[in-house]
Amino acid sequence: MTTRSIPRTDFAIVCGSANWGLRFPEDLDEPGVTVVERDLEFDTPWGPSAEWKVLEIDGSRTSDGKTRTVLTVFSHGWPLNGIDHAAHRRVFWLLQEAGVRKVIACSTAGSLNRAVFAGDFVIASDMLELTQTQHSLLPSRYAYDCSGKQLVCPACAAIMEATAKSLWSTDARVFGPRSRLVAAHAWGPRLTSPAEVTAYRSLGADFINHSLAPEATLAREIGACFVNCAFITAAFENYFSPPEHKLLGVEEGALRNMKLAASRIALRAIAAFDADAGCVCSNLRSPMPEDYAGRR
Ligand SMILES: [Zn+2]
Repeated sequence: MTTRSIPRTDFAIVCGSANWGLRFPEDLDEPGVTVVERDLEFDTPWGPSAEWKVLEIDGSRTSDGKTRTVLTVFSHGWPLNGIDHAAHRRVFWLLQEAGVRKVIACSTAGSLNRAVFAGDFVIASDMLELTQTQHSLLPSRYAYDCSGKQLVCPACAAIMEATAKSLWSTDARVFGPRSRLVAAHAWGPRLTSPAEVTAYRSLGADFINHSLAPEATLAREIGACFVNCAFITAAFENYFSPPEHKLLGVEEGALRNMKLAASRIALRAIAAFDADAGCVCSNLRSPMPEDYAGRR
């Protein structure tokens, strides 16, 4: 691992289970994408964060015609040798230090909705995360109000949907922001029980995973736009099948192809983003008056 200062960039891809088993992005051979550095480790106030790469996307592939630097981290920044739910905070602190304004988070998910099948590509429109901010990055209670509205950027989601529709298998569907899907959160690593599936479904959630909601919250806390790049691996009814049946609703070979497609979608979407899209996401973190903490 190499420790060095954090590069400046507007763009980041947080990898996850949608990329597991692949060297991202090397295994994709995506035209115009170069790995500038890999095996990077950065220091944070909460300890080191490892498995970072710096990518460059050639100007012939980007929306503004300029070479684009992209930061990526392996599997949400989760350490290789233990379970640490606070790893998300270290990742987003580094993204904040880098000046990142657009974040794509890759993952797989389980369906909580009979109409959302294994193999479908799902872009969230809202989050259901009842504990919300266990690993907050905010400097105090008195610095910012962070809105819970529009946790997923509509401009980034529109590009993600268009990119996914051009690359995702025609055997499955792409659910874009107009589908208004709600993503629920559980920390994991245990998978969701039948009773929990029933509970989250009754609360209005359409799919669930272990990463999306804390990443969306942290993106809000650093004032960045956020969108997920995810697909369903477990269908709703898979959670209720006999215990000897596998939860995975897709075959291994098909799963690898989905991971390759999702990884390519993430790369092409980040290249297509407009750094200065006319969305209001960055204003949804608003400074509090100084005298809230100053007069006491
Ligand atoms: Zn936005």
